[in-house]
Amino acid sequence: MSRMLKLAATVSVMTLLPGALATASAESLKVVASFSIISDFAKNVGGDRVDITTLVGPDGDAHVYEPKPADAAAVASADVVLVNGLQFEGFLKRLVEASGTKAPIVELTKGGEVLKAEEGEHHHEGEEAAEGEHDHEAAEGEHAHEEGGEHAHEEGHHHHGEFDPHAWQSVHNAEVYVKNIADAFCAADADGCDDYKANAEAYSAKLEALEEEIKAAVAQIPEEKRTIITSHDAFGYFQHEYGLRFLAPEGVSTESEASAADVAALIKQVREDKASAIFVENITNPRLIEQIASETGIKIGGTLYSDALSDPSGPAATYIDMMKHNVTTIKGAISGS
Ligand SMILES: [Zn+2]
Repeated sequence: MSRMLKLAATVSVMTLLPGALATASAESLKVVASFSIISDFAKNVGGDRVDITTLVGPDGDAHVYEPKPADAAAVASADVVLVNGLQFEGFLKRLVEASGTKAPIVELTKGGEVLKAEEGEHHHEGEEAAEGEHDHEAAEGEHAHEEGGEHAHEEGHHHHGEFDPHAWQSVHNAEVYVKNIADAFCAADADGCDDYKANAEAYSAKLEALEEEIKAAVAQIPEEKRTIITSHDAFGYFQHEYGLRFLAPEGVSTESEASAADVAALIKQVREDKASAIFVENITNPRLIEQIASETGIKIGGTLYSDALSDPSGPAATYIDMMKHNVTTIKGAISGS
């Protein structure tokens, strides 16, 4: 008898609050992450409470990604959509519109330290491009207004934005992404908030240890050997934070290919500056780097993971492994040269 009453009570509560109960207990939070690095952060914060769909997967290039119908379906049914922002995901605006989603689109670079993209000539201009040259400012407010119609004037153009989008290459910024993810999850699933915050805190402690490790590794590289080459300007934040100098034939987006003049200028500069090492990137075709390597005689020092993780069996299956792999590969190539 009492059991039947309990059952009846439960049923009536469920009738009153079907959505609330479904979100809180049976179903996990449906999260869409725009690319693999964000997906890894989201896993660390969300644990078992979230079900993550990643749009641009391992070794994928988000700059030039073409969404699939399944992506629109995932965005349409998502509870939360996590994106980098700063126009990293060129495909995003149209995808979100096409999906008709009501989910919040959360820009994880918000509140982080954001660097301006360098116009025209990339990093290969002067001698003193390395330290202190970047304009940077807190992103708070700077692109807070980007959601909605503000991007309208960009439509049809494929050039990159005012800011360098590769903010995750600074571990300090990665902590901002993680905090923003925890806040977004708390807003969408209040019952899990304590878990999200505890997970974010534990993961941030690991990120702080990672940052110390990176600084210690860079400190062992002689200052005069800290100039290296990659295929596109994905490491501006790494340069700014950790004091290596990166040169690249392509700018902050892979959308526009390097011109013959860009490549010739880079080769000339490499010969003058004696860059210590050259690397291919996991997301881009190695052809250009192979050409520069053969014309300058610098041996290719390995693969750096710039805008995407490796697949699970690779050396950069998580963000932490990616950052460790990159700095270890750079250090190894320089000391071996
Ligand atoms: Zn990039």
